[in-house]
Amino acid sequence: MACTITGRYALAPGGELKEDWAVRVDGDCIVATGPRQAVLAMAAPGDELLDTGDSLIAPGFCNSHMHAYGYLAHGIPVPVVPSGFDGFLRDYWWPWVEDRLDHDYIRAATALACVEMLKSGVTSFCDILEAPNAIPGGLLAEAEVVEQAGLRAILSFEATERAGEANGRAGLEENASFFRMQEARRKRGEKPLVRGMMCIHTTFSCSIPFLERARTMATDLGSGLQMHLSESVYEPVVSMRRYGKRPVALYDEIGFLGPDILASQCVQVSSQEIATLIRRGVRVSHMPLSNCEVGGGVAPVPDFLAAGARLGLGSDGYINNFFEVMRGAFLIHKAYRQDSTVMPAPTVVDLATRGGAAAMGLNAGELAPGRLADIIVVDAGTPTPITPGNAFDQYVLYRTASDVRHVMVGGRLVVRDGRILTLDEGEVIARAREAARRFWKGMN
Ligand SMILES: [Zn+2]
Repeated sequence: MACTITGRYALAPGGELKEDWAVRVDGDCIVATGPRQAVLAMAAPGDELLDTGDSLIAPGFCNSHMHAYGYLAHGIPVPVVPSGFDGFLRDYWWPWVEDRLDHDYIRAATALACVEMLKSGVTSFCDILEAPNAIPGGLLAEAEVVEQAGLRAILSFEATERAGEANGRAGLEENASFFRMQEARRKRGEKPLVRGMMCIHTTFSCSIPFLERARTMATDLGSGLQMHLSESVYEPVVSMRRYGKRPVALYDEIGFLGPDILASQCVQVSSQEIATLIRRGVRVSHMPLSNCEVGGGVAPVPDFLAAGARLGLGSDGYINNFFEVMRGAFLIHKAYRQDSTVMPAPTVVDLATRGGAAAMGLNAGELAPGRLADIIVVDAGTPTPITPGNAFDQYVLYRTASDVRHVMVGGRLVVRDGRILTLDEGEVIARAREAARRFWKGMN
């Protein structure tokens, strides 16, 4: 059955505000957009009408880098004070979070992450599960919850040799088998919302033969491959010490880079590295808020954009309210560059939607015919008027998760009037609290 969504405003492709607009959805795709009356005239008997009154229709947010498992670590009382990026991983994140995850924890954390993302208008996300003791099957546990939530996702497991060679190989195989399973569903004519991707950690936690093996597997599968890249100075420093070259040069030398690679973070990259990444068609994900958290620095996002990068925004599983992520991207680069003209609001919205979809390889992120019907409806009752000249600033700066009224993923309404239809929010929170209590036991 087709559905027409009407609203007072719509954020159209190209950074344009449309008034009195409508979007027609058939199956899982947008089939028409245009002035309300013109689109309503296309309706057939029995079609659904979602009249959203004075609201604003927008493409759903594409969270191009996420760690749903990280939710149980929010506020965790660690018995150490980690110093530096290396210390953050070795003394805190690896032993106290990643290594202790099992399937139950993954399910509880993922459900809570899905609740938070749905409520802030995220319709798709690209996830990396980091849990060396939860394979095999960690990705299946996660996928079960994501599919129930009705979110679109790319799920992958971060394969690394930090927990030993055998664990590294098992991590690669976890990705390969999950990818094959989802592709088999697709070939049977199903339209699964989740798909897989090959994934490795970094050049400091993987040997060159391991990286080459992951690259070959990704090529053979056609899965694409994602990794963290130079989130702080730690990776380039180690790479220089071990190999005499920076990480991007190392990757390039072994034929690792290509348009099917999604590199996240990319904080401490030189202009030469940016040029190489662009030349190889590598896609990039930027995490303005979590970059601050780990003290990694400020990513050269304006330089990536000037060079024509396919770049999306991500929450990194840190602060998942995507309006906050947009505000981070809007503000941090202005302060850092002492230039209020960088990262204007239409650019930031574009990165949060179309850019994220491009980074993830999804046909979404725009209110345009032929795109997937991943759509949100946001309350447009800002205290000051919305005009064509200020609409994107109003959206980025003065709207937040509680203003999200409806969320549609692939033509299916999953949030209506701010209430999640696919998950019992109270139950998810209760389960996550209980899981966090167990997870935190013995830590304080
Ligand atoms: Zn990350």
